[in-house]
This record gives sequence, structure tokens and C-alpha cells, in this order.
Amino acid sequence: MSNTSPAAPLVPPEPGDLPPEVFEAHATALARWVADYLRNTERYPVLSTLAPGEFRQRIPDAAPEAPEPLEAILADLDRVVMPGVTHWNHPAFFAYFANTASVPGILGELVIAALNQVGILWRTSPALSELETATTGWLGRAMGLPEGWFAMLTDTASVSTLQALAAARERDPSLGIRHEGMGGRPEVPRMRIYCSEHAHSSVDKAAITLGIGAANVVRLPGDDAYRMRVDALEAAIAADRARGYRPIAVVATVGTTSTTSVDPVDRIAAVCAREGLWLHVDAAYAGVLALVPEHRHHFAGLEHADSLVVNAHKWLFTPMDCSVLWTRHPQLLKRAFSLTPAYLETAEQDVALSQSDYSFQLGRRFRALKLWFVLRAFGLEGLRERLRHHCALARRFAGWVEAEPGWRMLAPVPMSVACFRHEPAGMTDEAALAAHNARILDRVNASGQVFLSHTKLGTRYVLRLAVGNVRTREAHVALAWRLLREAAG
Ligand SMILES: *Cc1c(COP(=O)(O)O)cnc(C)c1O
Repeated sequence: MSNTSPAAPLVPPEPGDLPPEVFEAHATALARWVADYLRNTERYPVLSTLAPGEFRQRIPDAAPEAPEPLEAILADLDRVVMPGVTHWNHPAFFAYFANTASVPGILGELVIAALNQVGILWRTSPALSELETATTGWLGRAMGLPEGWFAMLTDTASVSTLQALAAARERDPSLGIRHEGMGGRPEVPRMRIYCSEHAHSSVDKAAITLGIGAANVVRLPGDDAYRMRVDALEAAIAADRARGYRPIAVVATVGTTSTTSVDPVDRIAAVCAREGLWLHVDAAYAGVLALVPEHRHHFAGLEHADSLVVNAHKWLFTPMDCSVLWTRHPQLLKRAFSLTPAYLETAEQDVALSQSDYSFQLGRRFRALKLWFVLRAFGLEGLRERLRHHCALARRFAGWVEAEPGWRMLAPVPMSVACFRHEPAGMTDEAALAAHNARILDRVNASGQVFLSHTKLGTRYVLRLAVGNVRTREAHVALAWRLLREAAG
């Protein structure tokens, strides 16, 4: 009998996935492992103590030929993986800006992995497409954003800003950049983007990626509270126009990375309106604070922005990654990114929204699901309560610093970040102060009990304590303060 007969099974038994029963057993064990981790994060050093390359040595050079039991893989989580983990979920993580996986966020990620939606078109996941519109709409409404702004999720603020600036570049269709590119075309003017010296490096990376060039990101000086100087912005635009350059966009920051300072968005918006420039607001960390009425004033003028980025994966307790990009000009995003080959054409394409039409990415994850879990499980009130608590903790820390001789605050604390340092009596040389504070930071971080980072303000080396982890309590901030004082002594 021929072995190609349709009646004969191909290869009994046929290969496939591990059975659902195996998933159930291990997922149950893994859920206990995760709960134990969340209960005991503090038994790990916040910052991994491995040296560069040390982790790699724990991993074999080749993948196994024979299947390994899941028990063996799970056992290696504790033995192999955990020593190489820096614990962003640790309640004494005070470096950079916090990014925590909350319980609803982790549960959301599990479902995201299981459903494995690939949002290339509306029909490949109506739930992904429409939940993304719904949850970002919830968030925008709760933050007081104007009705009618278009929103979508991306992986990071870097990509949100890249896409916003791509739309800004597309605003003047006569340049034909989408089709012709920018190279070898003397008729294409030198394009300019403006931001403050305190703006995030993602602005430069966007300019590099878009072919605008890092040299065409004009970094304007900040004032003594680290806010963009609007007079400097106006002067730079005028000088660039006089040289025949083409100003296209301004990136204003609400909540800068070093000090959480706030650029004067309302005055910058007036300049942008007069000059015909795109206003992109980078509120990657601070944007969620617009949920809290007494913090709304930081966002004055935001309604005039052309685009806005806010990371849910920073201060909204949604696990990495989840960034929200809003714009009032979805048609320009679409002009920049829409491209439909024949195999992606569908009958419903004129009535159903596919976010891939507005983004660089084709395949997209079901990020809205974890955002939905987080927004519902905490509720807007629960989120506001946590944001207020974090701001109060940072202010309390600042109060301790101010009351302690030899210690000094170096920037206001409008949100949940404190910039400070130790200035012992008699030490005035900047290099000596920098070395002294760098030593304090190293000692404190080597304790494994807390993790802080530093920044530079002008020529000054500054320590930075950023509160934003969903599990941080006053005791953790007090611990950081005790360790800092011990390290300085
Ligand atoms: C964190 C941050 C970014 C970059 O965020 P990613 O999501 O890591 O790209 C950009 N701008 C500001 C103000 C930030 O705080």
C-alpha cells in the first residue's frame, strides 16, 4: 500500500505543542513562584551584582538537541536567571524612573501571551484594535485631554516620539519626502527640531532615524528651574529661518528626565502656532499625573499640542512595554505610515481602524489588554491615590535632606523625584564634590538594599531619588536616607 494514501496517518504520533495539562500544572507552579517573588522581592539585591560576561558563562554554547523537562527549565530560573536580574519590582528601586509590574499588569501579560494576537489588520484582532481605542480613550478623558484626539499604543516613548516627528516631517507634502527621500535633493531644506538642553535623548535618536540628523536638533538653554527658555526658542527659529533652514517641530517636556521640570507648554504652543511648527509634548514619565486634579496645572497649554507621549509602563504600573501616543492629526500619521500591499487589502478597510496604518510596525501586540486590567483593577481613584502617595514620599525625603546640615536639595520637587547631594563643610571644588557624591552613590548601591542613580545639572553632579514603584512605602525611602547618611559619614 502506498504511504501517500490519504487514509494513512502521516507520522504517528504527529508532533505538536506540549499538552494543555502540562501548561496547567506548570502555570500553577509558576504562579506560586511569581507570588513568592512579589512577596519577597526585598531578599534580592536591587541591582544585580554580576560582572559583565558572567551571566553568559552560565548558559551553554548550544541549544539542547533533546527536549528538556519543564522542571529543569523552571529550576534554572532561580539558579541561573535571578542572579542576573536587576529588580525593577523592588520597592527600594529609586533609580531613573520606576517601571513596575503590578499584579493586574502581570495577569494581563499572561493572557496577552496566551491569546497571542497579532494586530496587523482590524480583522486579525478586532478586540486588540478596538480595546486599544477604548482604553487610550479612557485614559485621555481621565487626564482631561481634548475630545477627539487619536491615540494608539507603541512599545516605548522613543518610538512614539519617532512616529510623531515622522508625521511632523510629512506635514508639507510638497517636499515629497515619503516618496523621494531626502538625499541628493538640493530643493529639500535643512530641517530643524527644537527642544531644551534637558530633553530626552530619544529626540536626537528620532532625528537620526528620520534622516533629519542629530546636528539639526537644536538644544535650547533652560532657565534656572531647568525649563526651556522661550526667548531662546524664538531667537533660534529666527536665526534658522534667516539661514534658509526649515523649522518643523518643537519638543516640549513635561517632567524632564533629570529634575522633572516642566517646559512652559502654553507659551511654546503660542510660538508654534505663530511659526507653523508641530508641537510634540514628551510627558513619558509625568503624563499620568494629569489624572490628579491638583497636578493638572503642570499641563497648562497641553490642549494646543499636535502630539503627546505618555508611558503607561512608567508611572501607571503597567509592565514593560506600553507607551501611549496621542495626536490631533491622525491623517498625517497615516500619510507617513500607511502602506497596503494587495495581500493586506480587506473589505472593511474603509470602516475599520487598523493601527498598523498609523505606525511603523505592522504586527502589534495586544498591549491594550494589560492597560485594561490595570485601569480596571486599580480604578482611577486607586491610581490617583498611589500617584499622590509617591509625590508625598518624595517631598518628605526632600524635607529630611533640607533639615540635615551638609545636605542640600538642588532642584524643586514638583512631582516624585528629588535631586540632592552631600556638600560637606569646606568642600567647594566641583570635582571633589562630584567624586565625593559618586562614592556615596556607589556605597549605597553596593549595599544591595536600594538603587539610586545620578544626573548632571549644568556642571554639578547630583544624586537623584525617584519614587514611582507601586510597592514603595515610607520605610523604603527612610532606608535610602539612612544609607545615604551612613555612606557620607
Ligand atoms: C523615559 C523617558 C523617555 C524614554 O522612554 P522609553 O519608553 O524608554 O523610550 C523619553 N522621554 C522622557 C521624558 C522620559 O522620561
